[in-house]
Parts: sequence; C-alpha cells; structure tokens
Amino acid sequence: MERYQDSKLYRIRHSAAHVMAQAVLEKFPDAKIAIGPPIEDGFYYDFDLPRPLTEADLAEIEQRMRAIIGERHEFKRREVSADEARTLFKDQPYKLELIDGLAAGEVDEYGEKTSEPVVISTYTQDSFEDLCRGPHVATTAEINPDAISITFKAPAGAYWRGDENREMLTRIYGTAWESAADLEDYLHRLEEARKRDHRLLGQELGLFTFNQTVGKGLPLWKPKGAILRDLLERFLREVQIDHGYQPVLTPHIARVRMFEISGHYPYYKDSQYAPFEVEGDLYMLKPMNCPHHIHIYSDELHSYRDLPIRFAEFGTVYRYEKSGELHGLTRVRGFTQDDAHIFCTPEQLEDEFVAVIDLVEFILNGLGLTDYRARVGIRDPESDKYVGSDENWEKAAQAIINAAHRKNLNFTVEEGEAAFYGPKLDFIIRDAVKREWQVSTVQVDYNLPQRFQLEYVGEDNERHQPIMIHRALYGSMERFVALMIEHYAGAFPAWMAPVQMVLIPIADRHLDYARDIASQLREHGFRVEVDDSQGRVGAKVRQATTQKVPWMLVVGDRDIAQSAVSVRLRTGEDLGAMHVADFITLAKTIVANKSLALA
Ligand SMILES: [Zn+2]
Ligand SMILES: [Zn+2]
Repeated sequence: MERYQDSKLYRIRHSAAHVMAQAVLEKFPDAKIAIGPPIEDGFYYDFDLPRPLTEADLAEIEQRMRAIIGERHEFKRREVSADEARTLFKDQPYKLELIDGLAAGEVDEYGEKTSEPVVISTYTQDSFEDLCRGPHVATTAEINPDAISITFKAPAGAYWRGDENREMLTRIYGTAWESAADLEDYLHRLEEARKRDHRLLGQELGLFTFNQTVGKGLPLWKPKGAILRDLLERFLREVQIDHGYQPVLTPHIARVRMFEISGHYPYYKDSQYAPFEVEGDLYMLKPMNCPHHIHIYSDELHSYRDLPIRFAEFGTVYRYEKSGELHGLTRVRGFTQDDAHIFCTPEQLEDEFVAVIDLVEFILNGLGLTDYRARVGIRDPESDKYVGSDENWEKAAQAIINAAHRKNLNFTVEEGEAAFYGPKLDFIIRDAVKREWQVSTVQVDYNLPQRFQLEYVGEDNERHQPIMIHRALYGSMERFVALMIEHYAGAFPAWMAPVQMVLIPIADRHLDYARDIASQLREHGFRVEVDDSQGRVGAKVRQATTQKVPWMLVVGDRDIAQSAVSVRLRTGEDLGAMHVADFITLAKTIVANKSLALA
C-alpha cells in the first residue's frame, strides 16, 4: 500500500494549506505564519493574528481559497541558502526560528526533530512563498475547489512548538479531498466523531476526570471507568494465561544505571522525567517495562527447553508530553501498557508470531473490533541506523511474513517502518466511523538481549543469545479505553458496560420489589443499580438511556404479581414483561458470549 506521505491526497492537502495561508495573509497582511502541515484527513496552519477570528472570517477565507484555486497557479520550488531564507522571511519571526533550526540540521520545516540532511527550499504559488520541502501538486488546478472545507467553525488555539511557555497561536483546520462526495462523506464522519468524543462521553458517563490540582495529563479513573478498564484487563489476562504467558509485577522506578545499560537514557531523555536522587544514587520513573522484565529473565539460567518464556504485566510507565500535545486519554503523561516480553530461540520466532497473531485476533474479535489490517515494518535499505546482522534481520522479517501468511492476515510490508532494533508487526484498527487507530504492536529486538548479555543454554550445551519480542496488544490502557468509548459511542456491549441494568420502580410502593430483584441479579454477578429517585418513569428511562445502560427493568404491580420485570433496551426496543428467571438466563447468555446484541 502507498504511504500517505506519497499519495496525491497528501500533496493536495499540503497545497491547500499553502493556499489557506495565502488567503489569511491577504486578509491580515501583518499576520505571522507558523507551520502548516498535512495531517490525517486534512491539514492545518498556525497563525499569529491581530484579532480573534469570527465564523464570518472563516467563511470569507474559505471563499478566497476557492478563488485562488480557480486561478490555476503553479507551485514553484526553489532552493535557497539559510541567509537568503532569512532575508525572504525577515518579517516572519516563527519562520526565522525554524530557519535557524534547519540551518543547524536539527529540525525540519515543521519544527520536528530530524536527522536527515536539510536542504532549505521554498514553494511559491501566486503571491505566497513558504518555507517548505514539499511535495505539492503541480498547480492549484489539481485541487478540487468543491472538495475543500475549513473544518471547524471556531478556530483552535495551539502553542507555538507545543510549548505552553511560548506564544498561543490560532490554528485553522481544513480538509481537502478529490471529490465533493468524498468531502461530504468525511464531514459526516467528522460530525459522528464529535458525538463520540471520549473526552465528552467520559465526563457524561462518569468514567474519568482530570483535575488541575492533580496535574495535566494525569487521568483519574472514576468507579465506572475503573470497572470498564478492569474488565478489559481481565479479559486479556485470562486469555494470556491460556496462551502460556506468566504474570510478573515490577516497580515504577529504577536506577538510572539500568536505563543507561538499556540505552534508553540519555538517548530518549527528552521524553522522560528528570532523574532524582535516593541515598546518593540516581533513580527515575520508568518510561518502559522492558529492562525490568529482562532482569526477571536473567535472574535464572535458562535452558532451551524453558523457552519460549512469556512475561506479561499491566505496567504503568511515565513519559513526558508537552502540555500542548496532551489530549484526553489518548495523550497522557502516565499510562499503563499491557506489556509482554517473549524470550525465544531464533527457530521459535515464526511460531511465536503465529501465536501472538492468534491472541490479537481473538481479543480484537471478542471486543467487536473486526475491521483491522496489519503492517509488517522492515528496514529501510538506504539507512544504516539499525542494529543487528543482516542475516538476523532477513530471517526475522521472513518469520513475521510467514506467520502472517499462515494466519491469512490482511497485511502490507512497509520499508522503513521497523524499529532500529528489529522488524515488527503492527495492527491498525478501523473504528465504527472508519478512523484508524494503531494499537497492537509486536516487535523483534536484537538490541536489548545483547546489551544485557542475555543467554540460554542450547541443545549443544553452549551459551546462546535469545531473541526478545516486545508485545502490547491494547497498547496503552488509557488510549484503548478511549478507542472503546469512541467505537461504541459509549454504548458498550453488555458484558463491558459498567452498569448493566437499572431497576426502575413505577411508584414508591414498588421500590422494595426493585431492590429485591436487584440483589438477586447481583448474586448472579450482574452490575445493577436501582433508580430510587423521585422522577416519573419516562424521565428515569431517559436518564438510563443517556447513560447507555443496556437493560432497563421497569417494575409495577403487574410485574410483582408475576415475578416479572418489564424489559426495555437502551435502543428504545421494548421486550415486554419477562419472568425474572427468564431474563437472568437471557442476560447471562449475552454476557457470557460477549454478544453485541441485547436480546
Ligand atoms: Zn509546505
Ligand atoms: Zn518492551
């Protein structure tokens, strides 16, 4: 499959971003321009503007964009020296800062760190010249004016370089597609996505919260959210045990020395929290669990007969994210990985991948995530950043590809997508509104076993180095719960719902019966609430529907007489009166099968 960065849509969106910047500069000649990259499904551009934008401004900018596109301007590239660039952008302080970074070979023109050699280039269309490495379409005629749109009625704020100590800029988001129909389809999906936003639903359903006194990017799980997360953990934990994983537990801090040996420190220093001193020795919060697990492995001498060894832990790790990049549960500062490390022989690699694919598919299908694809990431043949021998890389890549074939996986092989320490297999899920989430990842590692001098005794009685596989299925529990919330729009399958049923008495005199049925249901393991508030039945049903409770059990005189409950579903469907025992049988079957249906 073609990479997005190589696609025509990417060039169209990138070009539309430049057109948007031109339109904004025409309207506000004193505006300062920052960066404007293509992003998934669209593009944005950040501006420092003399005043806040109104909805009317945005409409005007969008109209002007269409006019510019209609004028069929060519996108012309030229290379410039750093000094020429400084002269060209002398009135644009943000660009000047980027030019300094570019000239020093530290960042690309979006301010992202890069190790690639930098050639400073610009692209010009009509009156607008931007610091840019491209690529672009040849002329604005390749942009369909009926397939572009500014996507948010209100522009967003964004800190320059994601740093909350820097200027707050105005970010205008736009999108561009090849056809008007594609645009309409996308805008519809965007609207759906807004309704599913996990940050809103998380509040409404009482799943989690954030508190500024606690700190940014540090979610607090409320009881209902904790239940949901625990159910997901338990599901995986049980299946993992069937698949031969052994649980381990490790602390949240460790000596810096360990991360020096692993190479995580100081190499990844920017994404970690500063070390602190304990009794004269430096410690840090763990950014990953791997070295801890490695020390469990190396605590004993292993024979080839013990392998594969599979250690699993829901391990909480801490990584520094800039304030400006934090986002609900998807970008946080402390998160829990469903982390596992497999130690195996080279001969076992293919079978281990088959087993992991099995596990991933079982879990994803069990969660109703049936639309996914896989990507085998192999080396970029041009680059020399990789560790390990060519022979090992070839063998490992072949083992992964063979395993994917054996499991009939829908997969692509992509060069340059490997980690520096080994090839990998990623799973990308499409949710109910067709957005892609990269979750599960399985990575071969030749680096850490070498750094920590891991070994096992082979059949030949000699010492050999095991291969290590890093495997996370949910990835991060925080992010995965966000995915579940958005995929189901909060209406979880009954087995996963924090509250599975609400008893709704019609009048006060039915309350004792409601409580009695509730305790019977709890004895059967269901999560049940009784709505003893003073409202009308209709209001209570609406409340439970908003809370997306799967089953509402209304009880009145007739139900009491028949030992029944009147069952309504959150979908609005009315199943009528059912004998309590029959309802229990129905609900038990649905929960046990992890069924998505409620009746
Ligand atoms: Zn550009
Ligand atoms: Zn790992």
